[in-house]
Amino acid sequence: MTITIDANEVDRRLLMDRSLAGRRAFTLPGSDVPEQSLPDSSLLREDVELPEISQLEVIRYFSVLSQLNFSIDTNFYPLGSCTMKYNPKINDELSSLPGLSDIHPLQPDETVQGAIRLMKDLQDDLGEITGLPGVSLAPLAGAQGEYAGLLVARAYHASRHDEKRTIAIVPDSAHGTNPASAAMAGLEVVTVRSDEQGNVDVENLRELVNEKTAVFMLTMPSTLGLFEPNILDITNIIHDAGGLVYADGANLNALLGLVKLGDLGVDICHSNLHKTFSTPHGGGGPGSGPVMVSSELAKFLPTPVAEQTDHGYVLSQPAMSVGSINGFHGSFSIVVRAFAYIKALGCEGLKSVSENAIIGANYIQSKLKDKYSIVADRYCMHETVLSAANQKKRGVSGLDIAKRLLDFGIHAPTMYFPLIVEEALMVEPTESESKETLDHFIAVMRQIDDEIDRSPELIFDAPHELPVKRLDEVAAVRKPVLRWSPEG
Ligand SMILES: *Cc1c(COP(=O)(O)O)cnc(C)c1O
Repeated sequence: MTITIDANEVDRRLLMDRSLAGRRAFTLPGSDVPEQSLPDSSLLREDVELPEISQLEVIRYFSVLSQLNFSIDTNFYPLGSCTMKYNPKINDELSSLPGLSDIHPLQPDETVQGAIRLMKDLQDDLGEITGLPGVSLAPLAGAQGEYAGLLVARAYHASRHDEKRTIAIVPDSAHGTNPASAAMAGLEVVTVRSDEQGNVDVENLRELVNEKTAVFMLTMPSTLGLFEPNILDITNIIHDAGGLVYADGANLNALLGLVKLGDLGVDICHSNLHKTFSTPHGGGGPGSGPVMVSSELAKFLPTPVAEQTDHGYVLSQPAMSVGSINGFHGSFSIVVRAFAYIKALGCEGLKSVSENAIIGANYIQSKLKDKYSIVADRYCMHETVLSAANQKKRGVSGLDIAKRLLDFGIHAPTMYFPLIVEEALMVEPTESESKETLDHFIAVMRQIDDEIDRSPELIFDAPHELPVKRLDEVAAVRKPVLRWSPEG
């Protein structure tokens, strides 16, 4: 027998609304120490209203809250560019081992040799995977990895007294963090066009490159999910002009064991451990975005870098380091998860991750491209960017389709990105979904396309089954309600 829970019947009262005066979630034993006087009453805030609630109610409250969310542990989550893959639970278990979780960043190195060795081993693995052997695990997010990598590029040019190089060239399909990080690193952003095949327009790039080019930021595969066939020409053009090539490797899901960015002429890249290397993410963190560089650039890396010396493992500062980019060593618990993931899979396993991710995305693309148009009729890598332009002409937008998918237990794809694709729906199935799940998604997408002509109101009113319907997204940004208040 299956029991279905009607979302409307779930008790969704807020914690404060459950409060009853005098109710408690705990009882303290009688005091066996001398009573101390309370702080001066002017320091006490009598007006703070705290919920008074039993332990059982607290548990119910948080359990219900957890069920209101879509998550990769409950639903298919094809959010392109974000790599919402299965995160093996053993990674969580290992990262909470006391020897790895009950340590402090200021502990002397000799008391945390195992932890530093783990960092060193992961650095080596990431260096091997990307072909860029200089690695710092310090950055706390993909965007911070970009920032750190761009600081390395600036430090390199400065070390050669080549200060006129102030321009970062960024493709028009780039993730928004790319131009933002370049601007934060003090570089001026110049945009290079994509051609009609979705590749970097090499002629346009030639026109833009000059003696002021500091760095070219490339995403590989591009945010259209496409392999850049002119990559070797591109890296040569940049190097001949004296610039460096930065690759946004936030998602390495298409490259593991197949292609090394360093072999393509890339000098610097970052990768999001919380995407490719399996850490639960979404909802704002924590993240980890290590930065990888060629051996020539390793001396500029942010501190710290784990090293093996004659006296054991140490955390050290590279000779011409750009310095510290956050308080400590990065997101250590995520570093442990990535380490566990890589070791569990091994070389062959990592390779099959990418092979399966690529096959899954192409399967979806080939079964949907007659209904939803694609930028270029060629194989994609780990994700496919569908366009709902045809559907839009019939009155239904990409957003409407994304909302309707929720009724079928499918999280929305990434929408309206990359910006150069009209009504973009960017679908990344990842390697961890079964063929049955992909078939379900394909069937639902085709059904929604049918509904446009038969019963469009079903789409416009979607989602029908979820606790919240369509949100006012403008108000959510402009007037966010971030805390409970009695009036609200
Ligand atoms: C996710 C992503 C980023 C940013 O990573 P954060 O950890 O969110 O800062 C950058 N580039 C690409 C291509 C991404 O997919």
